[in-house]
Amino acid sequence: MNIIIFGPPGAGKGTQSDFIVKNFNLFKLSTGDLLREEIKKKTPIGQKIITIVNSGSLVSDDIINNLIENVVSNKKYENRIIFDGYPRNLPQAKKLNELLSKYSQKIDIVIKLQVSLEIIKKRITGRLTCSKCSKTFNEFFSPPPTNMICCQDGTLQKRDDDNVGVAVKRYETYEKSTEPVLDFYKKMNLVKDLNGETNIDSIQSKISDYLTVIEGWLCKITPYKYIF
Ligand code: AMP
Repeated sequence: MNIIIFGPPGAGKGTQSDFIVKNFNLFKLSTGDLLREEIKKKTPIGQKIITIVNSGSLVSDDIINNLIENVVSNKKYENRIIFDGYPRNLPQAKKLNELLSKYSQKIDIVIKLQVSLEIIKKRITGRLTCSKCSKTFNEFFSPPPTNMICCQDGTLQKRDDDNVGVAVKRYETYEKSTEPVLDFYKKMNLVKDLNGETNIDSIQSKISDYLTVIEGWLCKITPYKYIF
């Protein structure tokens, strides 16, 4: 099954994707992570996009689409992808559909996490990530250990784009460019709305219910995919 996890920045997409990856044996494709990796490695793409990412605007569709095709075309990930932070506008959604059908795949469910701007500001400005194991903490909701050490050699870091100004800009970008994507998937009857402000466990339990149904159903119609 292929999944899209959808919602504004700070909605908890990363946390829920990690849960799905672990429990449903999927592969997470986070365009934000891929772009940050390019920036960290100072590749030509990284140098081109650094100011765009740090300002909260969207990187060009061409750059994103290339990154996506590299993964969708790879047999290793066939029908096992969770898209996090992508698609973020209508052209990207249409392109994804095109790419998936080119490789005989489709989206099975779009999980939408709804969170208000006030909560998002706190989630984003309080977010700290361990440089070693990528575990995240939040100064307001799940504070890090008092000595600020997560695991050996890991330092707790803030993302360059995690500040109030850029958070609001990212939220506005989401509302303007990304919400129309939902209508596209609603027409395909794929969207499940979840309240992203309730506790993590209850969100995970609802997601599990949805995915278990889809997985059971896919096993019935394409059992061979699950034999190997
Ligand atoms: P994220 O980690 O998903 O919050 O993304 C961080 C930043 O990376 C965004 O604010 C954008 O600048 C850029 N970005 C991530 N995914 C996309 C995408 N699908 N299309 C365009 N820009 C993106």
